[in-house]
Amino acid sequence: MPTLVTGAAGFIGFHVARALCRRGEIVVGLDNLNDYYDPELKRARLASLAAEPGFHFFRMELADREAVEQLFEAWQPERVIHLAAQAGVRYSLENPHAYMESNMVGFLNILEGCRVQRVKHLVYASSSSIYGGNVRTPFSENDRADHPLNLYAATKRANELMAHAYSHLYDLPTTGLRFFTVYGPWGRPDMALFTFTRKILAGEPIDVFNYGQHRRDFTYIEDIVEGVLKTYDRLPVANDAWYELAAAGETPAASSSAPWSVYNIGNQTPVELIRYIRVLESCLGRAAQIRLLPRQPGDALDTHADVTALQQAVGYCPGTTIEEGVARFVEWYNEYYQVAKQEPILGSEGVLAVV
Ligand code: NAD
Repeated sequence: MPTLVTGAAGFIGFHVARALCRRGEIVVGLDNLNDYYDPELKRARLASLAAEPGFHFFRMELADREAVEQLFEAWQPERVIHLAAQAGVRYSLENPHAYMESNMVGFLNILEGCRVQRVKHLVYASSSSIYGGNVRTPFSENDRADHPLNLYAATKRANELMAHAYSHLYDLPTTGLRFFTVYGPWGRPDMALFTFTRKILAGEPIDVFNYGQHRRDFTYIEDIVEGVLKTYDRLPVANDAWYELAAAGETPAASSSAPWSVYNIGNQTPVELIRYIRVLESCLGRAAQIRLLPRQPGDALDTHADVTALQQAVGYCPGTTIEEGVARFVEWYNEYYQVAKQEPILGSEGVLAVV
């Protein structure tokens, strides 16, 4: 039975789809290949996936209800890993409608597909941004999450609530994973690590907001993939009895306890942005010219995941340090963009140039 992975041309979707294929599973990938960031990179990820046995791809718009219905009907996926979304906090201030289309209408279409085709488990991407202006760290799933600081976060929190309604009404098992700043090879060009790398190599200054003081729980992609797959493998799937009753035309009672859960999935080790840049400088062997700027509207101060719940539920155990993770990203970046080896221009102590 195939697994549907949405956002398969995206950063996390690509890695998850590839890992599933390598386990011998049949994966149906969906993506609209939008141009929010370099479509060439998305195509390169897909070209790499095309070499995996069992991978099928459909270029499709999630907000297109009929297309999504047809895909579910044709492939009848047993499980769905929903990673497609309009991502990015800052872009949500510029283009709010993209978030409504992809993250709200698109998510509803996925829920409906799961309901109609009796999908056994829906795992979907939520985000650390739903914690909004929480000042108490680490963030726990029991903390309030009803004060989003931007529309992106609002749509992700809304997804969790929509999933709850479907879990409650239709006994659909849903698991939301609140990702904390994911980075690594094949990463997103709109995110800090990628932008900083490109600019440092080009000798251009980098903009560092909140004077570099905010901390992020940077989480390496392989740890994320492991957490997603453990969630997919180990959490309970649908109760067939409920579906059988529904198929027989009876009205099953709504669940007393919905098979719904949300979990943090982070590294548990927040790092100050300035330190992250230092590690990057050392991996690149080049100094950054830094423009220190105030905090941007919509940005959270610190993020820090408490991952005890996911650890207990599925044995999630992130282990990659930022030194290892950033080094692997730089290795990939140099190879992908064929960066010529340059003489290091960083002293042994490192030079952090502030402009
Ligand atoms: P990404 O932008 O690389 O991947 C998302 C993919 O979804 C893209 O390839 C895009 O083309 C596709 N897509 C967007 N809207 C679509 C639509 N309407 N129809 C079909 N395809 C569509 O992002 P990512 O970093 O891989 O993130 C994956 C998921 O994780 C997203 O839901 C994102 O919000 C969430 N998330 C990511 C991070 C992170 O640090 N990367 C953090 C928190 C949450």
